[in-house]
Amino acid sequence: MKELFFLIILFAVVNSFAQTKTESKYDFSCLDSDGSSIVTNVFGDLEKDMLNNYGLAVSIEEEEKIGEIVFKECEKEFKFFKLGKEIENLKSILKKLAKNIDKPKGFKYEIFLLDTTMLNAFTAGGKIFFTTEMYRFCKSNDEIAAIIGHEIYHNELGHISDQIKREKTANSFFGEQIGSISSFLGKILTTPFNQKNEAHCDLTGTDLINKAGFKPCSTVILWNRMKENEGQYNEIEFIFNSHPYSGKRAVCTSEHLKINYSIICEE
Ligand SMILES: [Zn+2]
Repeated sequence: MKELFFLIILFAVVNSFAQTKTESKYDFSCLDSDGSSIVTNVFGDLEKDMLNNYGLAVSIEEEEKIGEIVFKECEKEFKFFKLGKEIENLKSILKKLAKNIDKPKGFKYEIFLLDTTMLNAFTAGGKIFFTTEMYRFCKSNDEIAAIIGHEIYHNELGHISDQIKREKTANSFFGEQIGSISSFLGKILTTPFNQKNEAHCDLTGTDLINKAGFKPCSTVILWNRMKENEGQYNEIEFIFNSHPYSGKRAVCTSEHLKINYSIICEE
């Protein structure tokens, strides 16, 4: 705990000297409508700058290695559906999306269907894990595409590599292994990325599904339905995060589509 506190202070100090970057196309003010996420988002930005300026580099190969480890851990834990129309459908949606990524970083994207009642989807090193409960929750291929598009962008926007950098940087500062591989995996699988990262993936993922010919409003529909079901699903579900977050995510995506594409999604 003490180390963590020290690290937070260090990030803050180092960042007072770091330059901040601005993003123009994606507007996240929708997240701050009640002021609850300002702290996490500001801290997330500062930390990202810190990692970019001082963190150790992470290669695609290293990310893919982590993806491989996550895959092996999941194989121990869950049954994978390797055949059948569901996995074939997921693969074909992923294929359509992957070829429409702007300036792809070079991940070899793969998708897996895990047999579990947990409503979840997660990713590491280009590998996307989709649960059977999530498959049932989605009412169309457009909604499935919205989830996959979101997961693709956790890779493309460097969110996984930030997580790896965080571990590497912490280890090199303290000269010891403060996080074992299993605790790192635990973090990947259970820690929500900060709210801004989640929203960023929603918006870029929605851009991607729109470009690939899927209905862009499906992201909004999905989050609105998630909001209605929030009470029912309170297991890990890191992608759904906590109430009232699903509602905010629907609003952010809806505003993004209105501003950038003049698309009005039905309420
Ligand atoms: Zn996410």
